[in-house]
Amino acid sequence: MPFPSLESFLNHYNNEEICSSFLFQLKWPLGFCCSECNHGRAYAVTTRRLPLFECASCKHQHSLTKGTAMENSRTPLRKWFIAIYLFASSEDGVSAINLSHTIQVTYKTAWLMLHKLRDALDQAECDPLLNGIVRVQGGAYGSPFNPYTEKDPQRHPLLAGGSVHDTGEVDVLRLRIIDPQHVQPNGYISHDGEQEFIKDAVSLTAAEVKSVRFRLHRSCFRPLVRCIAEFSSWANLTFHGLGRKYLQAYANEFTFRYNSRQQRQPLLARIFQICSNQLTPTTLRSLTQKYRIS
Ligand SMILES: [Zn+2]
Repeated sequence: MPFPSLESFLNHYNNEEICSSFLFQLKWPLGFCCSECNHGRAYAVTTRRLPLFECASCKHQHSLTKGTAMENSRTPLRKWFIAIYLFASSEDGVSAINLSHTIQVTYKTAWLMLHKLRDALDQAECDPLLNGIVRVQGGAYGSPFNPYTEKDPQRHPLLAGGSVHDTGEVDVLRLRIIDPQHVQPNGYISHDGEQEFIKDAVSLTAAEVKSVRFRLHRSCFRPLVRCIAEFSSWANLTFHGLGRKYLQAYANEFTFRYNSRQQRQPLLARIFQICSNQLTPTTLRSLTQKYRIS
């Protein structure tokens, strides 16, 4: 899908039927296939707001939105499509307040829609594992560089990991917000905290892994320090600052954008693809559990 202007996107996806048939194609690109019996034909049951597809063989009824980011949502598909467009089209993403104004939904609905998109990216495990020459750098989000504010409650320690290119550029980036229990009084991130991150984010085939756990250390990895600074400015400019609770979800959105840019991947088509199949429904409760702070 080439990147259309907002106007042409709105003109094309101008009613629920067009949005449903596009979602149908994304969900069943090779034509309908019953997940219960593999039969290839279905009848559309059109008495609902969104059509159901009843398998012609076993009669199982398939919801169009089941397994998609839109599952269990009462928001019209067209509004979802506009949200996906805005999420993908702007290099910096979109805040819930801006989305709520644009598609005329409450702030709470817009907030949850954007978190469902972030969670879809997270479930699809879009960020590759770090490989090759890997560097890990301690840092923090939330307060300006100041060696005297180590205990600032608004400062959220994090680790940035990167696959580093020969030129020093970070090819693949991962960010991990660190649980406060893994931060020592002197500001160092604990060895356990670092190892947990490396276990999750670094490939077993990485050629070399070196890390600096303290953000102010003189031998810090400057390209990663820059990435942390970019993450901080992005969070402050796009969202006017973020609290600790869902910070990891935003960090994941940032690395998804960073890595997609590095790999020159077309965002709109990719996000539609990711949002259209094989997802576990995201709810406020599932988000709270996923990003629980200890
Ligand atoms: Zn069937």
